[in-house]
Amino acid sequence: MPLIKVLGSSSSGNCYIIQAGEEKLVLECGIDYKSILKGLNYSIKGVVGCLISHQHMDHCKSFKKILESFPKVVVPLEILEKFQCMSSGKSIIAENQKLINIGRFSVMPFDCQHTNADGSECKNLGYLIQHPIMGRILFATDTYYLKYKFKDVDHILIECNYSEDNLQALEPHEQRLFKSHMSLETLKETLKTWDLSSTKTITLIHLSKNNGEPERFKREIESLTGIPTYIAVEELEVS
Ligand SMILES: [Zn+2]
Ligand SMILES: [Zn+2]
Repeated sequence: MPLIKVLGSSSSGNCYIIQAGEEKLVLECGIDYKSILKGLNYSIKGVVGCLISHQHMDHCKSFKKILESFPKVVVPLEILEKFQCMSSGKSIIAENQKLINIGRFSVMPFDCQHTNADGSECKNLGYLIQHPIMGRILFATDTYYLKYKFKDVDHILIECNYSEDNLQALEPHEQRLFKSHMSLETLKETLKTWDLSSTKTITLIHLSKNNGEPERFKREIESLTGIPTYIAVEELEVS
């Protein structure tokens, strides 16, 4: 059984399933609910909940359906406000560095750096996820920079949206949208400062459709780190 399954990973919709023994945790719900169910083989048995990073639709499109049908949903407060939901027993408000237990997963949210289309700051959380069966997974997306350093992470799911080489040709307003995301160059500088001695896989997520270069990003991250690197495309499975 795969440890990580990708259902979608781009600005048109993000969703990932993490499987640890009998338990499943869904990361993001930015695709149709039907597609999420299909990815779960039409059964939410074993699903302990869903973690959502931030309020952009490519990450939270199916929030209301998920809130109805999943046992727990972990979200920044802004998502409840966006969907005009009262906080309930099902929703857990995630806050920077406040540990959350969900099934046998323990989840540490941490602040990421992201902006809205108008340039205002967008509250966005990454998650460090631990489970006795699978070890630690780091999940961080839609963040132009990460202020925290990590170690002892078994699997990394991290944004690699574009390369700075490809920005020159764009208009300033287009460049600004990219600058709220992680570039290949920033990711490389970031990974250089982490202790990756326990890391078994790196999966590059949320690549830009037009300015991402999957083969190059994979090659450059693999040669920098020496760790098997994958590009998150629909139906990718990492074990
Ligand atoms: Zn996004
Ligand atoms: Zn976003």
